[in-house]
Amino acid sequence: MTPDTQLINHPYKAPDEFEASTPGAFKASTVLFPNVAAMRSRQWADRSAYTYGTHGTPTTFTLEARLATLEGAKHCVLTPSGLLAIGLVDMAFLDAGDEVLIPANAYGPGKAFAHGDLARWGIQTTFFDPLNPNDLAEKISAKTRLVWLEAAGSITLEFPDVPACVAVVRAANDAGREGRAGRARPIITALDNTWGAGVAFQAFEMGVDLSMQALTKYPSGGGDVLMGAVFTRDAALHNTLQMCHMRLGICVGANDAELVLRGLQTIHVRYHHQDATTRSLAEWAVTRQEFAAVRHPALPDSPGHATWLRDCSAAACLFSVVFKPCYSSAQVDAFCDRLTVFGLGYSWAGPMSLAVPYSLDADRGCGEALVGVVVRFAVGLAHVDDLRADLAQALDGMVADT
Ligand SMILES: *Cc1c(COP(=O)(O)O)cnc(C)c1O
Repeated sequence: MTPDTQLINHPYKAPDEFEASTPGAFKASTVLFPNVAAMRSRQWADRSAYTYGTHGTPTTFTLEARLATLEGAKHCVLTPSGLLAIGLVDMAFLDAGDEVLIPANAYGPGKAFAHGDLARWGIQTTFFDPLNPNDLAEKISAKTRLVWLEAAGSITLEFPDVPACVAVVRAANDAGREGRAGRARPIITALDNTWGAGVAFQAFEMGVDLSMQALTKYPSGGGDVLMGAVFTRDAALHNTLQMCHMRLGICVGANDAELVLRGLQTIHVRYHHQDATTRSLAEWAVTRQEFAAVRHPALPDSPGHATWLRDCSAAACLFSVVFKPCYSSAQVDAFCDRLTVFGLGYSWAGPMSLAVPYSLDADRGCGEALVGVVVRFAVGLAHVDDLRADLAQALDGMVADT
């Protein structure tokens, strides 16, 4: 054999039984088979063997198994972003002529996919008020196939009654089975559980069929990885998801999967630490005269507080403030620009604390309309005293401007 071939078809094989707390970053497109019989018989779908890089490696199989444990699910598939986890659920379960129901306060880019792409494929989107299960009941039609839920809602952090919403969908499914609604297939419920992260509450105890998480947020925890996951306890739903996932060629990089495995080991510590800092800042924000409202599910005035209290043992690292209408959008922008410990940037649950100003549509359809500019804070791992002092100095500068 010539030296160049020798380097590629190298005879050395490292010994088995290398064990570490995480499997490391296994990288491959090609997986080698010992013979054609193995090539023909190996099954990747049940995770019993390896066949090709997109179908799984020791790194991704391990990450899926650990995430399923965190989420209280049986099955998990990985996607390269949280947004694609939402899109995968939509693509796997919605057909032309179907309708998807989305909470009015849901993650914005997921709504954009519904308007921009599902609409092109003949799938209708209808929004409902997640704080009002009766509104959900009224919006369900014979065409409804998928109902999204999100707890807490993006930016404005209303906490919905997930079990009540699931009960509404089950009642519609029961009516369909009795032939009253003319429904061919049952409606599926899917929860965006990025906020709860498998820590604050158990998605599947709430009765949903599917859940997804942006692993970009808590499971990674580093602010340096983009990834998502879809979970279920139901083998048939998982099979539909997995086959669509496979046909689309969706997969994640080994180095990214390795980073999420590493982050996952500290998720509970980080979640509870950031929870404590966030609550302290939100409670302090209530004492400031600049804000018309402070949104955090643990605050008694925050919409859905009683439901959060009933269903959750913790809260994520987000709180939002609504500035009084006397503060212009330019003044709020200047407040954000004065922050020095908080950075300006999207995403959350990483080490950096972040702020984003939003001008919300008046028709978010969650109870009271919010008038005034909203700033959402994502609290990281900095010390609470420094974060509070940063907010105070930026607010004090703002008063001087008025
Ligand atoms: C960030 C986020 C997503 C999307 O995650 P990416 O990995 O950034 O695409 C989805 N849902 C919620 C609630 C999020 O906060």
